Amino acid sequence: MKFIDTHSHIYLPEFNNDRNSIIYFAEKESVSKIFLPAIDAATHEQMLETEIEYPEVCVAMMGLHPCSVKENYLDELKIARHYLEKRRFIAVGEIGLDFYWDKTFTAEQYKAFHEQVEWAKHFDIPVVIHSRNSTDECIDVVKEHQNGKLKGVFHCFSGNAEQAKKIIELDLYLGIGGVLTFKNSGLDKAIEDIDLSHLVLETDAPYLAPVPFRGKRNEPSYLKYVVQKLAEVKSVTVEEVAAVTTANAENLFGC
Ligand SMILES: [Zn+2]
Repeated sequence: MKFIDTHSHIYLPEFNNDRNSIIYFAEKESVSKIFLPAIDAATHEQMLETEIEYPEVCVAMMGLHPCSVKENYLDELKIARHYLEKRRFIAVGEIGLDFYWDKTFTAEQYKAFHEQVEWAKHFDIPVVIHSRNSTDECIDVVKEHQNGKLKGVFHCFSGNAEQAKKIIELDLYLGIGGVLTFKNSGLDKAIEDIDLSHLVLETDAPYLAPVPFRGKRNEPSYLKYVVQKLAEVKSVTVEEVAAVTTANAENLFGC
């Protein structure tokens, strides 16, 4: 049995003191791969160093996070694009829209998102979409670009059943993480009619730790709590969750 944590920022300073043991515990809990979503130029190097340090486990994405879209976003895009031209990355991510914190740069967020979606098509790799308080808006952007060639995942999906259905109709996957274990999140209901074949697993570490660690620092080994809950919601075994979601991630990310 093996799992893939498709979204984990374990290169961040939160893990500087114990990254080795974090990887060790992940492997002990059958997490065989950890995909690293990029944020911005302030952390790209740390991310790439982590990938070099754990080549069997960690695989990097490249992109500009919507929360890092500020005055200098064009420079940031140039840097990300430059990296993408130098070597192969597993995805363009994480990219998207975030209307939770700050709406000052909404227009720029849209521009950066559109542009990076086109990059993904150009390099023939998936997009990893951040859609906090903007699920419908992100769905609209994907719809605009979907010509049958765009592939990707709505990371940390926390929308409703209707939004889930729209996303899988657009041929994208739903990234399921700790939110599924939160009481009254409604995510169990939202994915009730969604087949496992459309889901991939993620932690979004260090954020969104699942119950019983809610509010604490998250880490890839905690994926097991998401897996247990998903098995329960879908009335299948943990082994089946592992087999299907790992195959989905391998299919989507081509690994
Ligand atoms: Zn993230």
